[in-house]
Formats: sequence, structure tokens, C-alpha cells
Amino acid sequence: MSEEQILNEIEQNKEDYIKFLQKMIQAESYNPPGNEKNVAIVIEEFLKDSGLKIEIYSFGDNRANLIAYLNDNFNGRNLLYNGHMDVVPPGNEEDWKFPPLSGIIKGGKKNKKIFGRGAVDMKSGLSAMVISLKILKKLGLKLSGNLILNAVADEETGGKLGAKWSLENLLKSIKCDFTVVGEMTGMQPIGKGISVGEKGHLHLKVITNGIMGHSMMPSMAKNSINMMSEIILNLDKMEKYMPKIEPPISYERYKEIFSNLFPSKEQFERIFNEQEVLQFIFDSMTQFSKSFTLINGGFKENVIPDRCEAIIDFRLLPGQEVDMILDSLKKVITKDLGYEVKNEPRGNPREIFVYIEKYRYSEPSYLENWENSQYLKDFEEIFVGIFGGKPAYILGIGTADSRYFRNSNYCPQTIIFGPGEAFSAHAIDESIKIQDFIDVIKVYTLFAYNFLK
Ligand SMILES: [Zn+2]
Repeated sequence: MSEEQILNEIEQNKEDYIKFLQKMIQAESYNPPGNEKNVAIVIEEFLKDSGLKIEIYSFGDNRANLIAYLNDNFNGRNLLYNGHMDVVPPGNEEDWKFPPLSGIIKGGKKNKKIFGRGAVDMKSGLSAMVISLKILKKLGLKLSGNLILNAVADEETGGKLGAKWSLENLLKSIKCDFTVVGEMTGMQPIGKGISVGEKGHLHLKVITNGIMGHSMMPSMAKNSINMMSEIILNLDKMEKYMPKIEPPISYERYKEIFSNLFPSKEQFERIFNEQEVLQFIFDSMTQFSKSFTLINGGFKENVIPDRCEAIIDFRLLPGQEVDMILDSLKKVITKDLGYEVKNEPRGNPREIFVYIEKYRYSEPSYLENWENSQYLKDFEEIFVGIFGGKPAYILGIGTADSRYFRNSNYCPQTIIFGPGEAFSAHAIDESIKIQDFIDVIKVYTLFAYNFLK
């Protein structure tokens, strides 16, 4: 009966929910610089007469994190809904069909969409979470647990001031049993996914330091570009210094999971072989990768350069650690190539060495034993009830705030699930299907109700 009550409530108030999402998109929160407080105020306004407890923690210049609870009792089962309030800047606004802060609705009856920056990443997911909290409060259903909403700043620039800060300052004293991060998990043409983990990333800065000299007498100098090319050519040797890691979901297991989403295995195989992009995604979900993405060396045509600088972008599988990658690269440079690795980027003019620096990074993480998680099975049941088919379980190939919840051991049982298609995130004319948004409100609310009752 209560589930029916929830679904009726959602159907009846759809228009209010759509208006709320439009307001969320219209609240500018481009990061950098952030301005997340604009969004926090819209959430507070929407929840203000509900009787929910809401706290806004301001910091910096117009920035904020927000927490809201269903009730004051944290002794039962606690469910955490997390979403970020910041969005990436829109780029050149003239390239947009509709202004990025418009929140305008376009499209035919069955295909209505809301346009604007953050429509997918992730103001629709966050709005759906806020709405689910409001519904549960409004209906006054008998619940023994608590739902905690954590809306955070700073996700698009690393999350230290948002999710990490919230964890250390607002959530630490609250035991958490299950967390949903509401980032988009739609993957056309497959359907909807649930992410049970995310890859990590590491940007390493590498500087090769040689000896400057005239290019008519190159043997008197030491060419830093040649040194860098030795590193490029020998980069694969890193793997002999690294422990072998299996991806949490193997290539074959993905094929099994995905083919179950199609009417027949043959149909899936045909689409898989036709659509190369699917194969690229499978590669990324199952492999550690390393790519040189920036390189800069030399300053004059006839001078042998003494400095060459490059960035290597590594993508880590769960089980790998940033320092493990750094150590194995060091071993290639010292043992295989015979160069000294120094801790300082500068040396004496006639010193030959390599310098390595962790430039930006995030550790990978995943829900261990995800296939046996009862909470995840419960979530799947609600998912199937709304969408009619099973979810595609995936390993996220980008990074997300979920890693803070899992890796700190605060809430190992953390998943990502939310409205929107991954291809539309951070893109021009970002848009969310209204039906998708409404369906996800249903999933969040029904799951929370069943989890807490
Ligand atoms: Zn996001």
C-alpha cells in the first residue's frame, strides 16, 4: 500500500519536481570558481516547510556544503544519498542551442527534455535525491532508519572541500550502511547501469635533465628529448615491477552481464561487433592504461636541450595504488635505463637525472564482493520494478566522490546510480529526459522506503 502511495505522490507532483530541477539548473554553480551556495539555497527553499532538518556550511567565496536528515534518530539503519552541487563551466555559450542556465524544456510529448549545464551531471540526480527525502517526510510513513542527504561542493575539482570535508566534519559520527552517489549511469544503447566501483587516475610529471650543448657537437651534450624517448619506449616494462591485478569484473563477465540485457545472446554479439565504442568501453573497464598526454622540450633549433617535461596519464584498476605505479616507473628509469631519479626538479647544470612528481591523482575503489551484497540485490529489485529490465553492472572509468566513502572505510557499500546519459555530461546542450528524471525519483524513494522501514 505504501509503495502505491509513494508512486501516486510522485505522479501527482511531477510538475513541482520539474520546476525544482529547472531552478537548480538556473542556480549558477560553475566550478571553477564554485558558487555552490546558490544551489544550497534553492534546496533549502524547496525543503523549508517540510519539517526536515537542514544545515548549510558556508566556506570561501559563496561556496557551501549541505546536509539534511529525515529525523533525529541515527541508531537504526542509515542510508546516505550524496550528490555534488557544482558543475563544469559551459565553455563558449554561443555554441549552445539554449543558454546553459536556461533550464528550458523542449521536445515532443514522449521525449521532453530539460536543457542546461548540469542537467545530467548532476543536478537531476541531486534534485531527485532531495525530492525523495521530501516525499518520505511528507507521507509520514513509519520508518525505523534515517535518510541523510549530503549535497557537496568541489566534486569537479577533486572533492577535497566537498565530499572529503563532509565525511570528516559532518558524517563521521553517523554510522552509514549504504550510500548512493547520484551521478548519471545511463549508457545508450545498452540502457541503465549501476557502477560498483571506479578506476583511479594518476597524472605524473616527468622531467628529464640532460646537458645543454651545440647541435653541431651533440656527443658533448646529453639530449633530454632522447632521454624522454627512452622512457616512452620502455614504459611497458613497468608492468614487470607491478603485482598482477585482475579487474573486479572480467571482460567475459561483462559480456555475460550485457548480453542478459538483450533479447538474445546473438543479438548482443551482433551489436557488440558492430559498435566499436562498446569494445573500447570494455577495454577501459578491464585494463590498466598509461598514456603520454603532454610533452615539452627544447628552446632553439641548434641547441641540444637539457630539459624535457612530460605528463603521463595512468588509469588504475581497483587493487592498484598510486604509489605502486610511481615505484614501478622509478624502477624502469633506474634499473632498466640506468638514470638517477632525484627528489628535486633542479640540479647542477652538468647533472644528468630524472625527476618524477605526482601531479594529480585519485585512488581507485570498488564495492568488494558486490555480487553478494544484499543491499545491492534489494536495490536491483526496485530498479527492475521501475525500468522493467536488469541493470548493467559496470566499473566507472572516470572518478567520482564515491571513492571517499569506500576508501576511508566509512561506507564500503557505496554505489553510483543516477539519471542521465554519460555522453551528455560536460557536453554542449547537456540535457535530461524528464521521464528518466521522474523514474529515478521513484527508484530513490522506493529504495529508501524499503531500506528504512
Ligand atoms: Zn558529476
